[in-house]
Amino acid sequence: MVHFVGAGPGAPDLITLRGAELLRKADCIIYAGSLVNPALLEMAKEGCEIHNSAAMTLEEVLEVMERMEAAGKETVRLHTGDASLFGAIREQMDALDERDIPYDDTPGVSSFCGAAAALNAEYTLPGVSQSLIITRMAGRTPVPEKEQLASMAQHGTSMVLFLSSGLLRKVQDELLRGGYQADTPAAIVYKATWPDEKVIRCTVGTLARRGAEEGIRKTALLLIGDFLDSCYERSRLYDPTFTTEFRQASAPKKQ
Ligand code: SAH
Repeated sequence: MVHFVGAGPGAPDLITLRGAELLRKADCIIYAGSLVNPALLEMAKEGCEIHNSAAMTLEEVLEVMERMEAAGKETVRLHTGDASLFGAIREQMDALDERDIPYDDTPGVSSFCGAAAALNAEYTLPGVSQSLIITRMAGRTPVPEKEQLASMAQHGTSMVLFLSSGLLRKVQDELLRGGYQADTPAAIVYKATWPDEKVIRCTVGTLARRGAEEGIRKTALLLIGDFLDSCYERSRLYDPTFTTEFRQASAPKKQ
């Protein structure tokens, strides 16, 4: 069987308990070497066959999975963050279906959660934004016409951009063209949760300059939106005058 496992954003102790257990039991680990922390491989058992998929094609990855399956072995396919975001797992799963090889998927902590934690930020602040757009700037992989960055920017929501830190000037121009103000808060989070994590707070208007000054070209997320500001409304959930399924509202206090 093949187990797709989300490795988490970087810090090795941010893998899930289930993911760690699968890693410890695996006969073979194929890990995305460009972003998965190699410290996780220390969990591998003696004799585990380890491959770095950064230097492999899809066909080569499948060859290893097929060989392991034929020998009755367990393979872990270790993807960075959570594999459901920019993980290229669908094509692997479809190929496994064609070969009748069973698989399952263990979620991981995505880097957009790691980046929010690095900033002590909440994407969904009442009165500020209740939506998060997760997207990327079109690069070598195109983005559908309806999802071009400038049109996504029109919503003015909280936004996280993956795979875009090498295109900061273009990102900045598109965000401004779409309608974010130049002084809208922004942040660049490089290698969230890794020991060399770097957090750069800036604004939409200074994204490109600040990124260049700090030498940011890859392994970074761009966070945009007023959620990075200090103004918001208090949440209803914990408001004493708000009844929920679990708690009865108390009478407003007399002055
Ligand atoms: N599935 C992954 C994303 C893979 S795409 C996830 O859920 O996080 C690779 C992109 O993710 C990188 O180009 C970068 O934009 C982002 N990324 C991955 N790990 C990161 C980290 N620790 N810090 C900042 N960005 C990261």
